[in-house]
Amino acid sequence: MPNKKQLKTNPANSKKQRTAYQSLAAPSLRFSPNAWAKILYLRDAGDTEIGGFGVSRKDDLLLVEDFVTVKQRASVVSVEFDDDAVAEFFDEQVDMNRSPAEFARLWIHSHPGECPLPSPTDEQTFGRVFGASDWAAMVIVARGGQTYCRLRFNSGPGGSIEIPVAVDYSIPFEGSDHEAWHKEYEANIHVERIVSRGLLEFDSDGVAQRDGALDCGDCELFDDTAFDFEIDPWEEFKCRI
Ligand SMILES: [Zn+2]
Repeated sequence: MPNKKQLKTNPANSKKQRTAYQSLAAPSLRFSPNAWAKILYLRDAGDTEIGGFGVSRKDDLLLVEDFVTVKQRASVVSVEFDDDAVAEFFDEQVDMNRSPAEFARLWIHSHPGECPLPSPTDEQTFGRVFGASDWAAMVIVARGGQTYCRLRFNSGPGGSIEIPVAVDYSIPFEGSDHEAWHKEYEANIHVERIVSRGLLEFDSDGVAQRDGALDCGDCELFDDTAFDFEIDPWEEFKCRI
């Protein structure tokens, strides 16, 4: 049992040290109000996911000052960035004297439903695209308002940690710019409908028959109600938040 003097002289017990340890133990990803407003605007501009990169402040990599989209194919369950557009975005950022740590580590995308948890596709993308950098974060903003952020460290012993997301109103911020944001949405978000082509039976006139499930041995294919229909996996997705 340490005596009073030991407690006082132990650097871990000084207020300054404690604060430092606390901030190390519980970091959060903070957004400038402007960056956050832009994310919400783009999230709600259509029915699909949208994605982009968070641009951080040089001296505070967990403070996102801007959110930038690149040309992408977006569906209700995925976003796929155009490789050339990503390369162009990186070039522009380097030209602005920014380092990759400031613009290429925060992958932010929206979910059109209530659930902010990463899908298996998100996990694959995060591993494949961001697995080579020393660290990265996957950030998901659901339309329902919930957020998810996981920091992953790929160097050293590695590891990952979920951290909270917050908007930092203490920093000065500019007004919104819906016109510019909408132009960016229209230029970059290319909506892709996800369709499922179920097994249909056709009669001699080529008209699809939709009367009941079709038996295919071990599996039972459900009756399709249309040639194309949109999938809403989030409807059935079990969200633990
Ligand atoms: Zn996702």
